[in-house]
Amino acid sequence: CGIVGYIGHREAYPIIIKGLKRLEYRGYDSAGVVLYDEKDLKLSKTKGKVSDLEERVAKEISTKGTIGIGHTRWATHGVPNDVNSHPHLSNSGNLAIIHNGIIENYEPLKKELIKRGYTFKSDTDTEVLVNLIEEVQKNENIKLGKAVQIALNQVVGAYAICVFDKQKPDEIVVARLGSPLAIGIGENEFFIASDASPFIEYTSNAIYLEDEEMAIVRLNKDLKIRKIKDDSLVDPYIQELQM
Ligand code: GLU
Repeated sequence: CGIVGYIGHREAYPIIIKGLKRLEYRGYDSAGVVLYDEKDLKLSKTKGKVSDLEERVAKEISTKGTIGIGHTRWATHGVPNDVNSHPHLSNSGNLAIIHNGIIENYEPLKKELIKRGYTFKSDTDTEVLVNLIEEVQKNENIKLGKAVQIALNQVVGAYAICVFDKQKPDEIVVARLGSPLAIGIGENEFFIASDASPFIEYTSNAIYLEDEEMAIVRLNKDLKIRKIKDDSLVDPYIQELQM
């Protein structure tokens, strides 16, 4: 039910944990994080509170890394447990996703992916989406942003998502339909969150994605926002946040 992402030059983990705590008011049953340390994706997730996640992270993974995404889950598909918590990885292990919302047509999509050899660890609709993105990427041999767009055009439902591909580790792809998503713009760094509270002390410039928009948040590049349906570019409207 809450999303926090970071890509830039600071350590991502403290920003993500602090941000997830600020989003606790939205309600949730589990929490998780994936961090990227120039080489590998490091995943840790658990049923319970953000403080439980912190304890688990301390035992399980190194928190080094300047890119990461974190999530608090309000279960809709699959009971609240460790495996169903987000982030979810694709079958290859290259893609990581966090998702708020519901993929309503996940069942036929899942059946089709199973026919094509995909396996599923969790009972979530979200794990279907990340593997659908992977399948599109593989078949069409295209970049992550395009693959996310094609996959989302096959999806019925509601979402705010962040997707990270460790093969292209200078960007995070985000999209929204029916769940809020804000992007904070710093100097050579970006913050992503369900609302601006996780990044208010770092930047006062924010963009609120509209429904049916996606953005590629790329290091050292201007933000590009597009319509998911017809690929048209949207002029970013940057708001000045009141500190
Ligand atoms: N439908 C997803 C799940 O049950 C996401 C729920 C949420 O919005 O946190 O895992």
